[in-house]
Amino acid sequence: MVENNLRLILDEIKQGNPYGEKVTLVGATKFVPVDVINRAISAGLKDVSENRAQEFKEKYPLVTQPVNYHFIGSLQKNKVKYLIGKCYLIHSVDSLALLDEISRQAVNKGACQDVLLEVNMGVEEQKHGFDLSELESALSYAQTVNGVKVLGLMAMLPESDNQEFLFDLAKKLRSVYDNLKEKYGFKYLSLGMSNDYALCVKAGSNMIRVGSKIFGKRY
Ligand SMILES: *Cc1c(COP(=O)(O)O)cnc(C)c1O
Repeated sequence: MVENNLRLILDEIKQGNPYGEKVTLVGATKFVPVDVINRAISAGLKDVSENRAQEFKEKYPLVTQPVNYHFIGSLQKNKVKYLIGKCYLIHSVDSLALLDEISRQAVNKGACQDVLLEVNMGVEEQKHGFDLSELESALSYAQTVNGVKVLGLMAMLPESDNQEFLFDLAKKLRSVYDNLKEKYGFKYLSLGMSNDYALCVKAGSNMIRVGSKIFGKRY
C-alpha cells in the first residue's frame, strides 16, 4: 500500500519539473508510526518530515534507515534545540526572531543549519510567513547571520477547487523565486501537498511535501 503509493508518485515526478530541475519528494510523516516510516525509506523514500518539534524529537532516533529528516511545521523558538544538528532542512522559518534563534543554537553547536523562508501568499487567513514585500530585506538580513543558510522558499497554497487560481498562485511564487534565485543562491522551492503537488510541479516547484497520498488519511 505505502510502497505502491510511493512508487506511483516517484514515477510521476521522475521527469522533473518544466525548468529541468529534479523534484524532491519529502514524505510528510506526522502521526505515521516509525516502523511504517522505516518501510517507506526501504521502498525508496529519501526524505521525510515532521511538523511538530516534539514528534521530531521522539521519532528521529528511531528512524534507523538513512534519510534526510526535514522540519515543515510552525516552530517555537524554545523547540529549536531539538532540531539543530539533526534536521536536514527547516522549511518553515517565518520570522527574523526565529532565524536569530536558529543561528544562535547552530553557532553554539558549531553547526550550519539549512533553512527555507516561509512565504505568506496573502490569501485567506494565512498566519505564517513573510509577506512578499518583506522577503528581500529578510534575505539580506539572513546573509549577515552566522550558522544559517537560506536555500529557498516554502509556501502552502490555500484550499480551493479552482485549479486555475491555484496554478496562477504557484506560478507567481515561482517567479518570485526566480527573481531572487541567483542573488541568494536558492536551490529549493518547497510547494505542493497531496492535493496540489501535480499542478505545483507543473508551475515550477522542485520540492513537494506529501503525506496522505503516501500514508493514507490519518487525521
Ligand atoms: C501535513 C503537511 C503536509 C502534507 O499534507 P498532505 O495533504 O497530507 O499531503 C505538507 N506540508 C505541511 C506543512 C504539513 O503539515
